[in-house]
Amino acid sequence: MAKQDYYEILGVSRGASQDEIKKAYRRLAREYHPDVNNEPGAEERFKEINEAYEVLSDPDKRAKYDQFGHAAFDNAGTGSGGFGGFGGFGGTPFDDLGDIFDMFFGGGGGRDNLRPQRGADLRYDLTIDFEEAACGAEKVIEIPRTDLCSHCHGNQAEPGTPIKSCPDCNGTGQVRFAQQTPFGRVTSTRTCSRCGGEGKTYEKACTKCHGSGRERKISKINVKIPAGIDNGQIIRVAGKGEAGFRGGPAGDLQILVHVRPHEFFKRQDNNIICEVPISFVQAALGDEIEVPTLEGPVKMRIPEGTQNGKIMRLRGKGIQDLRGYGKGDQLCHIRVVVPTKLTPKQKEILRQFAKESGENNPDEAKSFFERVKDALR
Ligand SMILES: [Zn+2]
Ligand SMILES: [Zn+2]
Repeated sequence: MAKQDYYEILGVSRGASQDEIKKAYRRLAREYHPDVNNEPGAEERFKEINEAYEVLSDPDKRAKYDQFGHAAFDNAGTGSGGFGGFGGFGGTPFDDLGDIFDMFFGGGGGRDNLRPQRGADLRYDLTIDFEEAACGAEKVIEIPRTDLCSHCHGNQAEPGTPIKSCPDCNGTGQVRFAQQTPFGRVTSTRTCSRCGGEGKTYEKACTKCHGSGRERKISKINVKIPAGIDNGQIIRVAGKGEAGFRGGPAGDLQILVHVRPHEFFKRQDNNIICEVPISFVQAALGDEIEVPTLEGPVKMRIPEGTQNGKIMRLRGKGIQDLRGYGKGDQLCHIRVVVPTKLTPKQKEILRQFAKESGENNPDEAKSFFERVKDALR
């Protein structure tokens, strides 16, 4: 990822005067300030503009930038730490420019502490209905998370006040100190306490976040639940985890999906399984019945002589494949219900039915008993 040139960001020439840079910055900052500009990317742009201005408005930093480009602010931590600094080494023949900068700027160990750091991922458990999982849905969830401070937009300084390299550590984030020990004088480095290792400090810390650049708040997040998602699967929302440190990217939000069981439907891959009770008269004579599906009730024909346990398939009435490979079917398991309470008249009719059939057992059953007899012979 190549980082855009600071002069280009501000739209000024390399020889621009401080005055021109300041004017360009004011004009752009007004245009892209997130309070007035809601377009996507405006906030990112606003940060870039601030970052470019922070460097180009400071004669020292500008000189370093002119000489080394973005690499000047990568490892040495000279003050642009709040804004990331990826790609600064792109195309340079040096393995570690940081060593060179140590010589110039007196850097110590622990430069890694100054790198931008990605924010942590967050996990959220979301319970949805069977229909929502099958057909997709949009949800708004509210989660407590750390976001960039809404007042300084992660800059850490009170808006409008300058950010400068930390004077205690020369912007390295580390200070050397000497200790007398029984073995002699030992010099070591520790994280600068003034800037907390960030290498930069402000004339005035942001009044809202007190300089952390981050803010704990309840975020409302729109979640698109894709049709076909199943219990236990995770929806990843990029960039909606905790805010990053020193301009690093935010973590992701991982939403673990729990699907409420449905009273009528069960899921098996992309098929929907359901049980359809019919009376033994419907099973014998056939009928047209209504069966619920995800898309509402549909008519289904029960053929004459339908047996208990028969599976009838409603094509395309299942669940949308998560990756878009078509739809499953609805499989209706027919359950023939034998009545448990009969009136004397109903019993009489059934006895006549049995007599009409000429035996105590129906055809299928008779041949079954004959086959058993044959097998035992
Ligand atoms: Zn703030
Ligand atoms: Zn410092």
